[in-house]
Amino acid sequence: MSVIAWIGLGHMGLPMSARLVAAGHEVRGVDLDPVAAEAAAARGVRMVGGIAEAMAGAEVCVTSLPQPQHVRTVYGGEGGIFETAAAGTLLLDTSTVDIETSRWCHREAGSRGLRFVDAPISGGTAGAEAGSLTFMLGGSARDVTDVAALVAPMAGTVVPCGPEGMGIAAKLVNNMMLFINVMAMAEGSQLAEHLGLDAPTFWEVASSSSGSSWAVRTWYPVPGVVDTAAANRGFAASFSVDLARKDCDLAVAAGNSAGVHLPAARLALSQLEALSDEGLGGMDCTLVTRFASPDGTVRGFSPPEPRQEPTKEVTS
Ligand code: NAD
Repeated sequence: MSVIAWIGLGHMGLPMSARLVAAGHEVRGVDLDPVAAEAAAARGVRMVGGIAEAMAGAEVCVTSLPQPQHVRTVYGGEGGIFETAAAGTLLLDTSTVDIETSRWCHREAGSRGLRFVDAPISGGTAGAEAGSLTFMLGGSARDVTDVAALVAPMAGTVVPCGPEGMGIAAKLVNNMMLFINVMAMAEGSQLAEHLGLDAPTFWEVASSSSGSSWAVRTWYPVPGVVDTAAANRGFAASFSVDLARKDCDLAVAAGNSAGVHLPAARLALSQLEALSDEGLGGMDCTLVTRFASPDGTVRGFSPPEPRQEPTKEVTS
């Protein structure tokens, strides 16, 4: 069994790392958020004070971080992974980042005698809990083989996608397709509702017919239909608007540089941006359902109260 450093124990990092603990590895965790740290400790992750402590004696380091800038800081910053990892350590980043950030990780790791694999994931928090994620791996054949064995307790499918950056390339394309599917599901769920269809009945049709998708089966945005849907929990994020917006943005940027036209992805991006602009970036991305609703209301969602400015006491 290995000693594994794990940086970033949020929605995905927590259930994924718990599966490595259950498989018998010693997992040392680091997260800036005390709530995330407490939740990870409760699932058997040994929380430590910082990256250097996590890396001391670790053979492997896994990262699960929100945005490309967090990845660059955690790897390249002072006291970060590159500075503290022993030569030969296997590093894998499961975060969704841009291709250039991933290639930067490969370059910087290689120049220090470290082994890096881009290892983004698909399957959401439900897949992370169940150990059925799809891993898309990019890197040298030897490193990819070692990572494939290591991620087995967390994975249903592991696909070696090619050399460095190809795991991330596959992930960006996949997620672009996901968020286009989410839009289709959002519109379908509202049309079904407003045509008078019973939601579980329509879901039975859609999930087994040509309108089906992973989103329909896992995230159907009406309460009481699919257990794993955020709609059952007031649209608290399982995959936040802000992270979905980042993924769509990265895919649209990749389309721009490859000269590929992506009108549907642009529309998905504009809806996610509109939710973020409304202050709903921390809610679940399936809240795009609001854009299909006749009056903007969605079952299961209560918009946050507008912030009240403190009233000034008037003295005469
Ligand atoms: P999250 O925001 O829930 O978790 C990220 C964690 O990283 C947080 O707990 C945060 O406190 C921690 N963190 C940030 N900066 C840190 C630092 N400098 N040091 C230590 N910890 C730090 O995000 P998530 O939903 O778990 O997603 C993680 C990554 O996986 C993202 O790149 C996301 O795009 C990708 N992803 C998410 C899903 C999903 O369904 N949520 C699915 C596939 C891929």
